Amino acid sequence: MNAVGPEFGFGLYIHWPYCARICPYCDFNVYAAKDRESDPLVQAIVDDIRAHRSTLPEHPPLDSVFFGGGTPSLLSPAQMERILTAAQASFGLKTDAEISLEANPNDVLSGAPSDWALAGINRLSLGIQSLDDQALAFLGRDHNGKDARAAVERTQKHFDNHSVDLIYARPGQTAEAWQQELTDTLALGAPHLSLYELTIEERTAFGKRAARGDLVPMEDDDQADLYDLTQEVCEAHGLPAYEVSNHARTDAFQSRHNHIYWASGDWIGVGPGAHGRLTINGHRMATEAKKRPADYLEVQKPDQNKLSQHDTATEFLAMALRPTSGVDLERFETLFGVPVDTDVLSNLSEQKLARQEGQKLHLTQSGRLMADYIASLLVPY
Ligand code: SF4
Repeated sequence: MNAVGPEFGFGLYIHWPYCARICPYCDFNVYAAKDRESDPLVQAIVDDIRAHRSTLPEHPPLDSVFFGGGTPSLLSPAQMERILTAAQASFGLKTDAEISLEANPNDVLSGAPSDWALAGINRLSLGIQSLDDQALAFLGRDHNGKDARAAVERTQKHFDNHSVDLIYARPGQTAEAWQQELTDTLALGAPHLSLYELTIEERTAFGKRAARGDLVPMEDDDQADLYDLTQEVCEAHGLPAYEVSNHARTDAFQSRHNHIYWASGDWIGVGPGAHGRLTINGHRMATEAKKRPADYLEVQKPDQNKLSQHDTATEFLAMALRPTSGVDLERFETLFGVPVDTDVLSNLSEQKLARQEGQKLHLTQSGRLMADYIASLLVPY
């Protein structure tokens, strides 16, 4: 059996690169939507999906499709359907495939979520980011707290399976204020939450403000305290973490698409700048589509690099440490060619950062805060 590949899940990621406006913290491959015509890009995505079938003749039907971005809720239901029809015709979709759409609250309120469901979407991921008007203005969002609440309510009429995103550890945010905001959000009843700490990336508007000293990011220790508080509050409300930043009421509401990334399954990435991981003839290939929409419209063939065994193993480890289900140590040994170092394991266990249960290595709550660092300790060479 292979240690990575489609037997650990097979998904399709679609990157829709346009947004109504660009948020000052955003580091994704995004462009202002303005009055751009979207049909040519939809056609290019459809062509890209079809072309992938010829390079992956043996791959099974898809477990998941994820419309991300950018703001894919700017697509019309007919455009979503065209893309899904191409996915179905090229690869097939498992009968229980998870088909997610990232949506902005304003699109939920002004659009037609019932038509998204008719087009085939069965999971909505709602980027409300905060319930606080001031925080939303600071984050440069074009909705307020009332819109966020209304969008969650409207989502719930059409999608049982839905998720809400929040950004915390904002400059000056107190523990009390975050606890209240998180509790208020949990009271809205979403069965899944993605809770991200605000990170200030250099090349963003926030990064430039921070470099000038106009914005002071929260200290690491304070962020860590808020992370711990987050775990406590979510657990008390029946949404424990199942991954570093993700919480679900039951296993059924965990993101199947993200599990493919964490399990080193295969996924196709289509749309400008989308990344993919494909196992072809036993080789792990990293793909990256042309980044600029104009270039992608001309050439859909992604750049493709063969990953070394070491890079494949290292990536496997970094991803597998994130979910609470833990790292399979047999897969670790197959990929690295050596078992995990028992001295490193004992150190991690003494420091209460990880624990071993049979063939699985799990990070503790404190360990999850430093998953990348722990991965670097476990890499054997
Ligand atoms: S809406 Fe999302 S993807 Fe678009 S700019 Fe804002 S954060 Fe980035």
